[in-house]
Amino acid sequence: MRPIIIAANWKMNTTPADAGALAAAIAAATAEPEVVRVICPPYVSLAAVGAALSGTGVAVGAQNVHAERSGAYTGEIGAGMLAGLATWCIVGHSERRRDQHETDELVGRKIARCLEVGLRPIFAVGELLDEREAGRAQDVVRRQVLVGLAAAGDAEALASSSLVIAYEPVWAIGTGRTARGADAAAMADAIRAALVESGWPEAAADSMPVLYGGSVTSGSIAEFLSEPAIDGALVGGASLKADEMAGIVARAALTARARRGTT
Ligand code: PEP
Repeated sequence: MRPIIIAANWKMNTTPADAGALAAAIAAATAEPEVVRVICPPYVSLAAVGAALSGTGVAVGAQNVHAERSGAYTGEIGAGMLAGLATWCIVGHSERRRDQHETDELVGRKIARCLEVGLRPIFAVGELLDEREAGRAQDVVRRQVLVGLAAAGDAEALASSSLVIAYEPVWAIGTGRTARGADAAAMADAIRAALVESGWPEAAADSMPVLYGGSVTSGSIAEFLSEPAIDGALVGGASLKADEMAGIVARAALTARARRGTT
């Protein structure tokens, strides 16, 4: 049984002075233990958010990590530095692929850095609009998964790791435009097929959570969670509003209970 996961990506928003209050408000509004809840604030707010979330059951994640363990990388943060501050980490977000020119191979090395220190990676993949319009969406995502995981390490170790994949079509991020639930589900199937192609046993591929991300709101989450192949969402803009997160997590709790047969 795969968990239902709702992860908040605050991007470059909030300060250490206000992040704790927002995190506490979200935790209070989303008290649904059946749903795995994660908040990923900017690095400088990790400590404040961690303090605010203590005892709530909501986990803290980072938004990025460096591909090397340590060294002469001014301004960067290594995975080991996040000990005690975060238990999850987003890697490969399309905004970083676009702005920092992160390659599939680099993203894979970041996954390795996360796993070696016990951070749970949320590996973001997704196609550009012109790639979808050219009918190449699944090829692009397949390449991102295969190249990324080849750089992340041994297939057998990865297959038993805590990896989560977020399918985030780039054209849906921050645009107010979402994918169709059926298209997201087809991509989740393609992602799991790519895992098998990369050497994972089918049962392991089937157990790996796939999230959808791209303009998810309390109004659109149901379309994705009604797809059995989708296990939650990576939420950007709407995750800065406690009432939106309340609606998203409440819907996710319905799905979690329905999938467990406890409704
Ligand atoms: C994201 O940042 O991962 C994201 C999906 O953003 P938004 O929900 O704002 O589209």
